[in-house]
Amino acid sequence: MSRLIERGPLRPFRGTITGADPFEVVEDGAILIDDHVVVDFGPARRLIAAHPDVMVVPTDALLSPGLVDVHCHFPQTRITGTYGGGLLEWLENVTFPEEERFEDPAYSKAVAREFFDQCEAVGTNEVTVFCTSHPNSVDALFTEALDRTIKVTAGLVMMDRNAPSPLLTPAQDAYDDSLALIERWHGAAGGRFTYAITPRFAPTSTPALLEAAGALWAAHPTCAMQTHLSESEEEVAWVRRLFPHAKDYLAVYEKFGLVGPGAIFAHAIHLTDREVASLAEHKAVVAHCPTANRFLQSGTCDVSRLLAAGVTVKLGTDIGAGTTFDVMEVAAVAEGVPRRPLD
Ligand SMILES: [Zn+2]
Repeated sequence: MSRLIERGPLRPFRGTITGADPFEVVEDGAILIDDHVVVDFGPARRLIAAHPDVMVVPTDALLSPGLVDVHCHFPQTRITGTYGGGLLEWLENVTFPEEERFEDPAYSKAVAREFFDQCEAVGTNEVTVFCTSHPNSVDALFTEALDRTIKVTAGLVMMDRNAPSPLLTPAQDAYDDSLALIERWHGAAGGRFTYAITPRFAPTSTPALLEAAGALWAAHPTCAMQTHLSESEEEVAWVRRLFPHAKDYLAVYEKFGLVGPGAIFAHAIHLTDREVASLAEHKAVVAHCPTANRFLQSGTCDVSRLLAAGVTVKLGTDIGAGTTFDVMEVAAVAEGVPRRPLD
């Protein structure tokens, strides 16, 4: 077991970006690393006094917590930023053809490696990820993460309509495949892995599929649940036609028990006041993905409105509609400041 103190400028970053003094820097700070895990941090003097037998390694780098990406698609790594029109055209013309390639386990494995290399290069150490509808894509992702230190929440995409047939799985099969993956991966790697029940979004789901996803979550409530919500106006109109009895988009998910703590809804741009209130009441999380929203011209998420209503908002790259793996760049766009120049 290797113990090490790294000494340098430290950004402790306690709490949230909207909290008090989120960017405090301790000039002479340190972190104590024990077998690849940061177990203590603070002023260097305190850590060195408390652990006099541990080797101290100075660094010029800023010691900062890893970044968290709460929404992305690892199978879209190789199509990041590839132009294809608005959301629905982009799915059909760019995304689905690429996702079909993940029928091949060797392809899944290669892209999973590239995906984590990209995450690590920009300091991301926690990700919530969509795989494809092929179980091997989930196995490839978690297997690749076993030898790394990244925290992973991920799941099998469930779709049973409105996508190419090789990507569709009947509701019962999607349930059975997801269940087998939960048993294999949920809580694995010492608790570093979390399984996420993953219906892609309402338009690619029959009521039977959403019911299967809800039943699965009810039976395995410690899993996460991730999907998309109200990304583009065209999509919202489509959901209205597909689910004419639902009062709004979120109501489709509510009906099947898919709105609650542990649920992550990507985008949530075009919402009614009722939907915003419901997200807050159910303690669901919104994954705000401004680089992807800009790329697909889906609209602008009114984050202030969500925060004011008490909705928890986190940042996602939404690779590959998002154009960067770097959560700091996503944060810069979310803040409305210009992106930093490339170096
Ligand atoms: Zn997405």
